[in-house]
Amino acid sequence: MTEQTYIAANLNEVRARISAAAQRAGRAPEEITLIAVSKTKPTEMLAEAYEAGQRCFGENKVQEILEKAPILSEDIRWHMIGHLQRNKVRQVIGHTELIHSVDSIRLAEEIEKEAAKIGIVCNILIEVNIGDEESKYGVVPQETADFVAELSHFPHLRVCGLMTVAPYTENSEENRKYFREMKQLAVDIKRKNIDNICMDILSMGMTGDYEIAIEEGATMVRVGTGIFGERNYNK
Ligand SMILES: *Cc1c(COP(=O)(O)O)cnc(C)c1O
Repeated sequence: MTEQTYIAANLNEVRARISAAAQRAGRAPEEITLIAVSKTKPTEMLAEAYEAGQRCFGENKVQEILEKAPILSEDIRWHMIGHLQRNKVRQVIGHTELIHSVDSIRLAEEIEKEAAKIGIVCNILIEVNIGDEESKYGVVPQETADFVAELSHFPHLRVCGLMTVAPYTENSEENRKYFREMKQLAVDIKRKNIDNICMDILSMGMTGDYEIAIEEGATMVRVGTGIFGERNYNK
């Protein structure tokens, strides 16, 4: 066996854990997409992950996607996972495979408008504030179904599912109930058979709790620290 880089070794470990969690839940590992969250990390580290087979990367700032994308391989699929300001939509539209963080009608309207301009249908998820935390973005669970229904009339948006950032906790088991609620919410919305709305993607779980999220139905997990190491925001 050839020697692995730090990032390749981390990736392999995360992949193995994803498979194990999927199997525990009686699911196929292929049902789960790993998003490597590369915010604050230099392109060299993303290139290393790419070499190790990673293709989906998540960023929380438009600026970072726009800076990194031209330097890296064209077949990388960028996921916008952070809060998106309306005045940044124009810059990022067309550069993402999926925007995970749509949480207001005004933002959705802006994406609709810019997507129409360039003639694409933009894939989005609705961010849900499942823990009803004041500090968090997202639609509250009780209002999510109505919110989704409103978006079904936007011809240049495709609602693909739901996303959440679970509350911060030392004990990840505490988030199991939130992940379960997210899954139930997606099932309830799917049952309504709203035109133009699909609920296939459930983006939930980060370094500390992705295995639990998978056991409860996540189809996308967003792992940063577990792949690239701790982030340093003070650089
Ligand atoms: C930073 C971030 C992640 C990854 O967090 P880790 O704990 O480093 O895995 C996932 N999702 C969102 C929305 C983030 O901002």
